[in-house]
Amino acid sequence: MVEKVIPIRLDEGKGLMPSIPGQLAAANASTKDTRGRSLRDLRISVTDRCNFRCTYCMPKEIFDKNYPYLSHSDLLSFEEITRLTTIFASLGVEKIRLTGGEPLLRKNLEVLIGMLAKIRTTAGQPLDLTLTTNGSILRKKAAALKAAGLHRLTISLDGLNNDIFKKMNDVDFPVTDVLDGIAAAQEVGFTNLKVNMVVKKGTNDQEIIGMAKHFKGSGVTLRFIEFMDVGSSNGWDMSQVLPSQEVANRISAAFPIEPIEANYPGEVAQRWRYVDGSGEIGFISSVTQTFCHECTRARISTDGQLYLCLFANEGFDFKTLLRSGRSDLEIANAIMTTWSGRNDHYSEIRGINTVVTGSRKVEMSYIGG
Ligand code: SAM
Ligand code: SF4
Ligand code: SF4
Repeated sequence: MVEKVIPIRLDEGKGLMPSIPGQLAAANASTKDTRGRSLRDLRISVTDRCNFRCTYCMPKEIFDKNYPYLSHSDLLSFEEITRLTTIFASLGVEKIRLTGGEPLLRKNLEVLIGMLAKIRTTAGQPLDLTLTTNGSILRKKAAALKAAGLHRLTISLDGLNNDIFKKMNDVDFPVTDVLDGIAAAQEVGFTNLKVNMVVKKGTNDQEIIGMAKHFKGSGVTLRFIEFMDVGSSNGWDMSQVLPSQEVANRISAAFPIEPIEANYPGEVAQRWRYVDGSGEIGFISSVTQTFCHECTRARISTDGQLYLCLFANEGFDFKTLLRSGRSDLEIANAIMTTWSGRNDHYSEIRGINTVVTGSRKVEMSYIGG
């Protein structure tokens, strides 16, 4: 629980410009966690539900019809998410990623996007507004998302072979519909699309080259994600992790690639490009090449808890704060108090070949990757 509020005295403003003006922004821009990391990115999970049952995320033996999904009143409302995001923006956050569960299942999500698109950073710029989706209903939603002001999209796809993809999503969902969703996004004008592929050794690693070949030269950046031990239900063990270096070696043998500079410090994916100039690929290697030392991300779960790490086992209850008549300033102070005490660096502790034992971790579907 959040208990302490830092006593910074400042005026409160109104509207979707950061409601807490310059002085607090300046005070907080310099607020670092206990490992010297600033708060820059926010991931917001808008639903804990999903129409897929990816074995590495929401295995259907656990996420069945008896699973205690959140009720509507447990979810943060669009107004609450917008208020919280405005406060985060006033504290230096510039990048927002909407996720889930499957975020496009949240009714009228484009309305929320329209609200978030009005928020300005401390530099007076629009937020970098992005969304991660499984692509299953993207054909239906792409135009509305674009019109509402969404900037960028990441689509998850774990292979091109239908049998393998269906084995991963575990609901018999066909590859063609996800590819059609990607095409729809391109048709309505989304550029720089990213596709995330979780690689599970022995399950879909034979899809690596086919995926690379398919997206090479298409303007879509394919990113390979090491299978991670998120949550407490996906049966993770190291034998199912294919290290990114090995994925890179396999691709390089077919299509030579070379590493390139990160776009900005703390970028999650390591960037590589095809030597023949036909585009980029990325690697997210949170198991074998940890990047905790530059992790500037906070996460808001579907039920309004602030999590400081993907692998955290507890959050800080901001829903109660939001619903208890606290001012923006009090909430801002609570965020920075919480952030300044952050010491999370799970992936570094886990190391390779080990599983950190202890209390249960939050499920990915609550905090969205
Ligand atoms: N449902 C949306 C989707 O699948 O894109 C958004 C939420 S999903 C939790 C966000 C990302 O986390 C997806 O790209 C998914 O592949 C990835 N993910 C989920 N479980 C994972 C795991 N155990 N290891 C690595 N990545 C995982
Ligand atoms: Fe759903 Fe995304 Fe998790 Fe798959 S990875 S079960 S699509 S939330
Ligand atoms: Fe950030 Fe936690 Fe992942 Fe490390 S393990 S990069 S601290 S989310």
